[in-house]
Amino acid sequence: MANNKDSLLKSTSFWQHDYGHYTPNLSLAENLKADVAIIGGGFTGLNTAWQFKKDNPNARVVVLEADIIGFGSSGRNAGFSTKLFGLEPEMVVLRWGKQKMIDAHRYMNMAVAHTKSLIEQNGFQSDYSHAGMLRVSYAQKQLQRIRKTYQLYQELGIDTGLTWIDKNRIQQEFYSDRIIGGIYDTDTGTLNPCKQVRELKRLAESAMVKIYETSPVMNIEKTASAIILKTPNGQVAADKVVIATNAYTRQVPDARSLKNKQYPLWTYQVVTEPLTAAQWDSIGWKDRQSFGDNRHMLHYFRTTADGRITMGGGDAIAYKTGAKLEIPSPMNWEHCEAHLKWIYPQLKDVRIDYRWGGPVSVNADMAPEISFIEDERIIYSGGCFGHGVSLSHLNGRTIADLLNNNKTELTDFWIVNRKCIPMPGDMLSFIGGQVARKALKVGDWWEERHVRNH
Ligand SMILES: Cc1cc2nc3c(=O)[nH]c(=O)nc-3n(C[C@H](O)[C@H](O)[C@H](O)COP(=O)(O)OP(=O)(O)OC[C@H]3O[C@@H](n4cnc5c(N)ncnc54)[C@H](O)[C@@H]3O)c2cc1C
Repeated sequence: MANNKDSLLKSTSFWQHDYGHYTPNLSLAENLKADVAIIGGGFTGLNTAWQFKKDNPNARVVVLEADIIGFGSSGRNAGFSTKLFGLEPEMVVLRWGKQKMIDAHRYMNMAVAHTKSLIEQNGFQSDYSHAGMLRVSYAQKQLQRIRKTYQLYQELGIDTGLTWIDKNRIQQEFYSDRIIGGIYDTDTGTLNPCKQVRELKRLAESAMVKIYETSPVMNIEKTASAIILKTPNGQVAADKVVIATNAYTRQVPDARSLKNKQYPLWTYQVVTEPLTAAQWDSIGWKDRQSFGDNRHMLHYFRTTADGRITMGGGDAIAYKTGAKLEIPSPMNWEHCEAHLKWIYPQLKDVRIDYRWGGPVSVNADMAPEISFIEDERIIYSGGCFGHGVSLSHLNGRTIADLLNNNKTELTDFWIVNRKCIPMPGDMLSFIGGQVARKALKVGDWWEERHVRNH
């Protein structure tokens, strides 16, 4: 494994380091014809490719990935396969109304189930565990808010699998004075994201999908008979194209109508060294559920298969990203480490082994989107916020239905082909992001002012 210095320099994820040696496929170096070409080899792109090829065994399906499989958010995330959608349920209800929140919850239920069964049915080795997830509070005001969230789930009739956990019970499980209650959702999984995305690659290739790595699409040309995707050393002429670039979408060339779809926000994560048995004994957490807090700038925590804790969040940075751009943030990493040790002072001497970051795709509507772009031959998927693991897997199935021209329960979901509020230009999006971030941080400071001393 690389040392701290290397990981700081590269900012690649723990999962990418931990994967060990990986041999990427060759770049595209010829001119091909395809029925479907997919730009981006993350969860969305690869599951779309596999699902469509499964439906159409004779179809020619090509995936073009700018970097290597696992480079994007799919190889960097925390691996929570959850039912969380967009921002908070209150925000979804405020913006979209109750029925759309209920529909979104149903879609996300299907998303978690779809991801789990894909893993189980295809024997993925991606350390999947279905241990559930808690949403916890540290301060009374947060507790009041999470109680309202719980009541909202009950009022909407979407509280199956959710239970309220009070301070006594939570502290019997997690030996931390900081955690004072919250909601437990039994139906959440965790996975190793880099293994998962490369298992998806294996599955797609087993069905004869052609995957080219280090093959950035540099030009998209629409003609009457085909859409031509140009990469540095070859091109694909396809009948249909899927733009599965999520938070990297501003980098996709020649798609002006994509530029205002979403904006990338960078978020940060750290992972400890493997904990000793004594350290695990000192903190409880025997069932290894994942948990997140209900701060406005939330943190999330989980364990890894080799006995570490990984956690992240607490802040985000808006940047004009490039597909290759890394944005190290020592300040955010220090914040994560301090927060982990604030919850668990027992771990004050535990070493942080890796630090990294990655982009999440946010949009003005606070909900994901799958849309045709100017032309029914081009489908775009993005705006997954920080909740895209299960969602992007199911979106792959939904996009396959759209490619097949099938009207299904999935293609009827309201994120499909909806009119999205456009994001403003780069500078305004950046300023808006900074203002929103400051406001959320002030909200957290206010709610936690009686329990914090850092
Ligand atoms: C730090 C972090 C933690 C997260 N934690 C969670 C979590 O715990 N749970 C959760 O639900 N979600 C989480 N997310 C969000 C989740 O990771 C994403 O929503 C999801 O991975 C998106 O998958 P995707 O396939 O749509 O995009 P990506 O995985 O980003 O794939 C897009 C790909 O497109 C490629 N690309 C870009 N431009 C081009 C081009 N011109 N030509 C060819 N290829 C191109 C990129 O290289 C990239 O590989 C997290 C995100 C981050 C960054």
